[in-house]
Amino acid sequence: MKKTISTITLISLAAGIFAVSGCSTVEQTGRKRVMLMSRAEEIQMGEEAFKEVLSTSKLSTNLVNKTLLTYLGKKLAEKAGVPDYAWEFALIDDDEQVNAFCLPGGKVAVYTGILPVAIMAGGLKDGLAVVIGHEIGHAIARHGAERMSQSTLANLGASVLGSTVFKGKQAAFMEAYGAGITLGVILPYSRVQEYEADYIGLLLMAKAGYNPEAAVKFWEKMEELSPTSGSGLEKYLSTHPPNQDRLKKIKEHMPEAMYYYNMSKK
Ligand SMILES: [Zn+2]
Repeated sequence: MKKTISTITLISLAAGIFAVSGCSTVEQTGRKRVMLMSRAEEIQMGEEAFKEVLSTSKLSTNLVNKTLLTYLGKKLAEKAGVPDYAWEFALIDDDEQVNAFCLPGGKVAVYTGILPVAIMAGGLKDGLAVVIGHEIGHAIARHGAERMSQSTLANLGASVLGSTVFKGKQAAFMEAYGAGITLGVILPYSRVQEYEADYIGLLLMAKAGYNPEAAVKFWEKMEELSPTSGSGLEKYLSTHPPNQDRLKKIKEHMPEAMYYYNMSKK
């Protein structure tokens, strides 16, 4: 008879991994979460995926916008203080995509379609700082690795027999990024991660000397362009926070952000 690993064994294995190395805390917010991936592993995976993004996307040739993105990106990343990330910022030429995303290890891509919203949020510099700050927030809080860790645990629970933990991670990574990139769709983060990225981004932009109030205007504009308050959006809302909730939380953090913004001017 062929030996099979029982579900209980797999669950104990998953729980064991969790107990040994799985728990970590998000430094910026103190939130506890599952983390089964090393920083080095995460950085390497992000590096490879970003190369693929760059080779399969049409990159913008607008020198002014490209320069501004890199300039702001470097300034905000400096405030993030993670020396082991090799930050890169790419501007993808697609006016239809009102979006941006980040890959593990400090690789940020912004679509040209989001630039008009940034301008309407009170100027390209402050508006773009909102977008970049948010994406840097995802990167430094290691949200990508967290999602991959969650998938790894789920895979173990779902009896991925014969697969090592590393293979599990690889599969989760491909699921989260590989396939997504090819299809031009990046799987969404959880609401908790979105709020966390908003908060981290708000403080980073303020510390770097960009007016955090632009974040309020930015999300108000986003709501105007594609309302999240109407009906029929359940599917979207299951992963993305409604803009109103986002705005509420951002406004709650505003006094702290304004403190850093005023400090940056001294
Ligand atoms: Zn996000």
